[in-house]
Amino acid sequence: MTSVRRRDFLAAGGALLLAGCSRSGSDQVATPTTSAPSTSAPETSSAAPSPTEEPAPTPGTPAEVLARSTVPVLCFHQIREFRADDGAYARTITTPPSALTAQFQALRDGGYTPVTAPALVDHLQFGTPLPDRPVLLTFDDGSATHATAALPVLQQFGFPAAFFPMTVVLDKPDWLSGDQLRELDAAGMTIGAHSWDHQRMDRISGDQWAEQVDQPRQTLAEVLGHPVDLLAYPHGTWDQETLPHVAAAGYRAAFQLADATDPAQPLLTIRRIMPPPTWDAAALLARLESDF
Ligand SMILES: [Zn+2]
Repeated sequence: MTSVRRRDFLAAGGALLLAGCSRSGSDQVATPTTSAPSTSAPETSSAAPSPTEEPAPTPGTPAEVLARSTVPVLCFHQIREFRADDGAYARTITTPPSALTAQFQALRDGGYTPVTAPALVDHLQFGTPLPDRPVLLTFDDGSATHATAALPVLQQFGFPAAFFPMTVVLDKPDWLSGDQLRELDAAGMTIGAHSWDHQRMDRISGDQWAEQVDQPRQTLAEVLGHPVDLLAYPHGTWDQETLPHVAAAGYRAAFQLADATDPAQPLLTIRRIMPPPTWDAAALLARLESDF
């Protein structure tokens, strides 16, 4: 696919996006532990090291991270009813709210516990324990339906999730607004970057790295008021040239779709699958078992 001029991209709107993402096939875990605020210590002991301070965890080797890379990660897009003009492909990545509810119920009935994205990355990187049958739910592109339709279902189940909006669409009609991003963030969801305008990261060069990789992270941090350190590759695509740019931009981990996890950079090539709405409970659970 040739690259798309920004103006054309905006004009094409959702239809292009639907075409774009075609490649592929937390309870409850609380957000990663941060040390509790230290209780006010007597002034005389202020120089003493805090006995509650824990040593920094040791990152695993790439082989260790790869060995832990067995947690299923699901990738959804628009959460809405089908429209008459939705083509066959659009219908594979558009999830009606009732189908999302059914798939979430299947996860619950199957004993799965959705975890937060930071909890998953902590597990991969440091070996931090996760509950039995962990799964990560992610939502790409930045559709407004993530706030209006997905969030209510997530909250109904008490599930955490991660959202990866393109920054070019923010505050545009039918796309997430800054207020909605902050609403998702405040609800315990994780926000990560998904490029500026959905360029394939195995095909960009020069100034595009700053535009597509560095700047979206900064933009989202400004919207949210805190750092953002996760990325999902547009179209799920990446190559070996992509990874150093992603690492240099300060991302802690990055999510792809269908390629094999890179043995040297497993944190930057976390695999996901895109469950079509036609997968019933048995199909979804079977794929979680077979694909991860
Ligand atoms: Zn996308």
